[in-house]
Amino acid sequence: MNAEPGCAAILNAGSSSIKFALYEAGREGILMYRGQVEGIGLSPHLKVTDVSGTVVAERRWTSGTLDHHDATAEILKLGRELLAGRPVLAFGHRVVHGGMGFDRPVLVDAAVLGELKKLIPLAPLHQPHNLAPIEAIAAAAPDIPQVACFDTAFHRSQPAVAQEFALPREITAAGVRRYGFHGLSYDFIVSRLREIDPALARRRLVIAHLGNGASLCAVHEGRSVASTMGFTAVDGLMMGTRSGALDPGVLLYLMQERGFDARGIEDLLYRKSGLLGVSGISSDMRTLRQSTSPAAAEAIALFIYRIIRETGSLAAALGGLDGMVFTAGIGENDPATRAEVLAGCDWLGLTLDAERNAAGRGVISRDGTPVTVLVVPTDEERMIARYASETLHI
Ligand code: ADP
Repeated sequence: MNAEPGCAAILNAGSSSIKFALYEAGREGILMYRGQVEGIGLSPHLKVTDVSGTVVAERRWTSGTLDHHDATAEILKLGRELLAGRPVLAFGHRVVHGGMGFDRPVLVDAAVLGELKKLIPLAPLHQPHNLAPIEAIAAAAPDIPQVACFDTAFHRSQPAVAQEFALPREITAAGVRRYGFHGLSYDFIVSRLREIDPALARRRLVIAHLGNGASLCAVHEGRSVASTMGFTAVDGLMMGTRSGALDPGVLLYLMQERGFDARGIEDLLYRKSGLLGVSGISSDMRTLRQSTSPAAAEAIALFIYRIIRETGSLAAALGGLDGMVFTAGIGENDPATRAEVLAGCDWLGLTLDAERNAAGRGVISRDGTPVTVLVVPTDEERMIARYASETLHI
C-alpha cells in the first residue's frame, strides 16, 4: 500500500491548449503541480511548475502533429513520473457544454459521453476538444473514474424567462436557448464569498469575469439568475477577440451584402473582433493600457461601456444590487478597468476606495456605501478538483 494520499488530476482542454493541475485528493486538497501543453496543432510546448512556481518539466515539439489525444498521453506519462507511484484517484474535466440536462458535475460513463457528444453542435469550437482527453483517458486508464464539470451547469438555476430567446417554440425546443458560460468561475467566486462575507454571499450580486473571455453573472442566494453569455460564449460583453452581443441584423447584412459565409462570420466574431478588432493593435488589455494610440483608448472605452450597460441590465434582473465582484485576468489585475466601470455605475450605489483599488484584493468600495465591491481571484481548476472529490466521495 502507498502511504501517501491519492491525487486528483484536473484537465481543462481548449482549442489549442490543455491546462492541467494535480491536487491531493479531498475537498481542499493541496495543489501539487500545474502545467499546460500550448500550441497544439502548431508548435506544441509543455511546461509544468510545482507550487513554488519552479519549472519541473518542459518539452517542445517541432512539428504540429501532436493532437489533443497525443497531448493527453504526454500529460499522463509525465504525471506518472511526477507522482512516482502515488495513485490518481480521479480525473476532473472542464467541459464547456452540459446542455439543459446536466445541471451539476457527472461521473462519465459511455452513456454520458454519448450525451455530451450530442452537444457538440452547440459548441463546435470547444466541446470536441473537451471530450478528447476524456476519451484518451478512458482508453489508457479505464479504471480511474472521470468527472465532467460544466461551464453551463451553474446557470440552470435561472428562471425560464432568462433562458429563452423570443423565437418560435420549436426552435427553443430544439435547444436554441440561453445557456450561459464561465459557470465554474462563478461557482468558485460564490464559494469564496461564503468564506469572506457569508451574509453578502446570499444577497444580490453581479460577478464580473473579465479575462480574454468576459461575462457578467447576476447571482442571488448563491444561484445564477441571469448572465450576459447566451447560446454561445460570443454573446454579451466585448472580449479580447470576440464581439459580444450584436444586432442580429448585422449578420444578415454581412451575409447578404458582404458575401460572408458561416465560417467567415465565425472568424470575424470569435477571432477578429473585440479589443483586437476595435483597436487594430492587440487583444491584450496590458498592451492596450500601455499604448498611446487613440484606437486603443477607443477599444477600452467600448469595453468599459458595455460592462456598465450590462451591469445595469443584470441589476434590473436582480431588482437591485448589494455586491459586485471583479475576477479573472483583467478584473483581478487592472485597477483602471475597475475604476472606470465603477465610475459608470455610481448611480447604482457603487463607490471606489482608490487606495483599496490600487491594493487590488478584497473589498475595494468605500465603507458605509450601499454596495460592497470586491476583487476575488478565481480558480476554475480548484473548483473542478472539489467537484471531482465531492462526486466520488474521496
Ligand atoms: P483567459 O480568459 O484566457 O483565462 P485571463 O483571465 O488570463 O484570460 O485574462 C487575460 C487578460 O487579462 C488579458 O487581456 C490580459 O491583458 C489581462 N491582464 C492580465 N494581467 C493584467 C494586468 N496586470 N493589467 C491589465 N490587464 C491584465
